[in-house]
Amino acid sequence: MKEIVILGAGYAGLRTLRELQKSKEEFHITLVDQNTYHFEATDLHEVAAGTQPKEKITYPIKDVVNPEKTTFIQATVTKIDRDSQKVALATGQELAYDYLVVGLGFQSESFGIPGVSENALEMVDVDSAVKVNQHIHEMMRQYAATKNEDFLKIVVCGAGFTGIELLGSLVEGKKEMAEIAGVTPDKIQIYCVEAVTRLLPMFDEKLADYAIKHLTDWGVQWRTGKPIKEIKPGIVVYQDDADTGARKELAAKTIIWTTGVSGSHVMGESGFAERRGRVMVSEDLTDNDHKNVYVIGDVSAVMDPESQRPYPTTAQIALKMGSMAAKNILHQLKGEKTETFTFKSQGSVASIGNSHALGLVGKTSVKGYPASFIKKMIMNKSLLETGGVKETLAKGRFDLYH
Ligand SMILES: Cc1cc2nc3c(=O)[nH]c(=O)nc-3n(C[C@H](O)[C@H](O)[C@H](O)COP(=O)(O)OP(=O)(O)OC[C@H]3O[C@@H](n4cnc5c(N)ncnc54)[C@H](O)[C@@H]3O)c2cc1C
Repeated sequence: MKEIVILGAGYAGLRTLRELQKSKEEFHITLVDQNTYHFEATDLHEVAAGTQPKEKITYPIKDVVNPEKTTFIQATVTKIDRDSQKVALATGQELAYDYLVVGLGFQSESFGIPGVSENALEMVDVDSAVKVNQHIHEMMRQYAATKNEDFLKIVVCGAGFTGIELLGSLVEGKKEMAEIAGVTPDKIQIYCVEAVTRLLPMFDEKLADYAIKHLTDWGVQWRTGKPIKEIKPGIVVYQDDADTGARKELAAKTIIWTTGVSGSHVMGESGFAERRGRVMVSEDLTDNDHKNVYVIGDVSAVMDPESQRPYPTTAQIALKMGSMAAKNILHQLKGEKTETFTFKSQGSVASIGNSHALGLVGKTSVKGYPASFIKKMIMNKSLLETGGVKETLAKGRFDLYH
């Protein structure tokens, strides 16, 4: 019987699994993930800010595994050997495959800036998001004990999609933080340091301004056009003047790094032709030299014919790639030709807190409460596409009226 191994139970991997499990063809699947649960990476900022518990954004992987077709192994993947068709796990176990689907997702990217990994908190999985929240609470307690205002300061490094969503949730989480510190919420100081001046370039200026205005009204203090040069313990060092190169320091006891992500380090360590952990794949999503290896989601790069640049990595494209990988493996099993992957973005919506959002649905701009409603419907749809009805009913966002 043919063996299909899927690495990663994120959006891409679980979507592949669900599609393959529907097939009546004879094959066995092995799914590998380092966790026993799937997490909705798009909601990590809410756990980091403490506005949602981790249970709300996770569900057990075994809930979507059909044991008659699939074996789930909880283990960390360390290396992929495409020539011998084997995957090495940290446990020492080796898995042989006929077809491989790699969906190992993203990791934090420091862009070589000194001090980032040592002195800033990352937000890339459930554990790191929980750690951010625990750290903030501990800093609030330290303020209560010392009255040093640096403990009340939080800096978000980077004002991309993730940074903006995190800022919105942090503003919402201020009330709880203030209670721990024994101050009023306006005393919690939230900063954002960002290299560019035109924020949220994926949206038109009016929409981007809507987000910035709301966050400013809610007290976020901006340092835009200020490239970060170093993170020291409790200090963000940024370039204050582009002409002279003069630097300034911003002291804060919580520094969160959201300037960007790259694909899993396993890709480079396994000899894939990658750039920042992303592999430029063939048009059917296979590795260029190995037609039985599919590379999907955030570890994959597919060229957008319109912009002539790889599509941005999103859950939306990861889900579509998952479906296509499953479809193409089924074609290959039947000796048929594989299909070309095409993608048309349905737009994207960024939340700013639980009841505001902004973005594009198709080509239409949306903002405010309607956008927040749409964002929750998008979250529910993606949950449905990986977890099915049971998980959507249990973990979906149905607080639609404010
Ligand atoms: C805060 C935030 C907000 C976002 N908002 C949006 C949004 O609104 N819309 C949108 O479309 N996208 C959004 N994104 C981007 C989106 O989350 C990613 O593009 C998406 O998660 C990629 O899916 P994936 O399946 O490739 O990888 P992931 O979701 O990263 O899943 C990878 C899986 O692989 C497992 N894994 C990783 N390494 C190993 C290993 N070595 N061994 C075993 N298992 C491993 C992980 O545990 C995980 O289960 C957001 C991201 C963040 C961080």
